[in-house]
Amino acid sequence: MSSGIHVVTHPLIQIKLTRMRAADTSTVEFRARLSEVAELMVFEATRDIQTRPEMVRTPITDHEGATLARPIVVVPILRAGLGMVDGMLHLLPDASVGHIGMFRDEESHRPQSYYCKLPPHTHESDVLVVDPMLATGHSATAAITQLKEHHPQSIRFVCCLSCPEGLKQLSEAHPDVPIFTAAVDKGLNEKAYIVPGLGDAGDRYFGT
Ligand code: URA
Repeated sequence: MSSGIHVVTHPLIQIKLTRMRAADTSTVEFRARLSEVAELMVFEATRDIQTRPEMVRTPITDHEGATLARPIVVVPILRAGLGMVDGMLHLLPDASVGHIGMFRDEESHRPQSYYCKLPPHTHESDVLVVDPMLATGHSATAAITQLKEHHPQSIRFVCCLSCPEGLKQLSEAHPDVPIFTAAVDKGLNEKAYIVPGLGDAGDRYFGT
């Protein structure tokens, strides 16, 4: 599996991302575009996923085709990551879904896990950890640290927006985990929001 940072610059993704960024985009449209971006990101994030041969009989003859070598588990980081799950399952209908919940400890300012539920076959699976925003990178780092306790076969991180601070944090903490992002924005503001970003992805997705 190739590691490193992969910026997915496909024009269809950039057009949908632009609609997500616009402050006057409705909750309904935000949900739809996030789901579509997530679906399109899967295509790139699974480019080198392992397959194994599978024999099929076409109407004409036998043919050696391909099927996934291992189960796939999609793990959204709660809560905004939930907004990417449906889109991903369109392309990966057999994937299982695990959940990791993180909250920010007000004293340490570091993420603490409050929920972790993963399928029992996680250890034999290829895992896609998803969160629309890679901001400070601390939640993603902590979520992947927790996930690694379950020893999956591979881990990929998929987001929509990232920034240099988050990419540095996550890639240094977990250099073995490839990161797929649709854009790398300028940086973080004093409230740790991505600039220009799209605001609070969870609030925009859930309409809160
Ligand atoms: N989380 C968000 O939802 N938005 C940001 O800009 C940063 C973190």
